[in-house]
Amino acid sequence: MNSVNSSLTQPEVGDRVLPDFSWAEIETIFLDMDGTLLDKYYDDYFWEHYVPENYARKNNLSQPEARRHLLGTYKSVENTLQWTDLDYWSERLGLDIVKLKEEISHLVNIHPHVVDFLGYMADLGKKVYLVTNAHPKALQVKMDRVKIENCFHRLICSQEVGAAKEQAQFWHKLHDILPYDKETTLFADDTEKVLHSAAGYGIRHLIHIAKSSSRREPKHSLHYPSILTFRELMF
Ligand SMILES: [Mg+2]
Repeated sequence: MNSVNSSLTQPEVGDRVLPDFSWAEIETIFLDMDGTLLDKYYDDYFWEHYVPENYARKNNLSQPEARRHLLGTYKSVENTLQWTDLDYWSERLGLDIVKLKEEISHLVNIHPHVVDFLGYMADLGKKVYLVTNAHPKALQVKMDRVKIENCFHRLICSQEVGAAKEQAQFWHKLHDILPYDKETTLFADDTEKVLHSAAGYGIRHLIHIAKSSSRREPKHSLHYPSILTFRELMF
């Protein structure tokens, strides 16, 4: 980011952009789930280790072989609805993906300060929506575990919308389902590509989550206000 231009609009610390809005400007809040509210370690472990382990066992492969094969397969459907469709993966890999997800659901965990932040938003009377690419069955496994369902006006899966959040049409279709004013909407996500797509549609307030996984180093966005935890938005 060009620091001369950006300093006109947004304060920066080092190479990160800090949030610069007031809650009085915001009516509607869209929150991503995996990596944003919940620790992405569960998903990373699931797809990078647990699925390869089970796929190797079923197909008599070594784990590195299974892993290599699967990472290539995942890549082929990246940023599409298929990537999030557990039924698609169950069929394609010949594994019961929902059952495997449930087997390690003890690893589903909520990020620090999320519950306090959701309480704060309720106190401020904001309309808060969970907006996720996760498949409804994956969403269920997670909500069974973390019990934050009641904090949202509604939970919206990309499957219901008919496009992935990375795709421009997602935001048009979401607007048909749920009329909202993009000028007074704030959207938080840990994936820059998704934020680019929301920015393209014109959502005014975008927040990037730098610490998506408890097991990975934080990675700040250079394009969007970027936070480590929701504690930074409690002002
Ligand atoms: Mg995410």
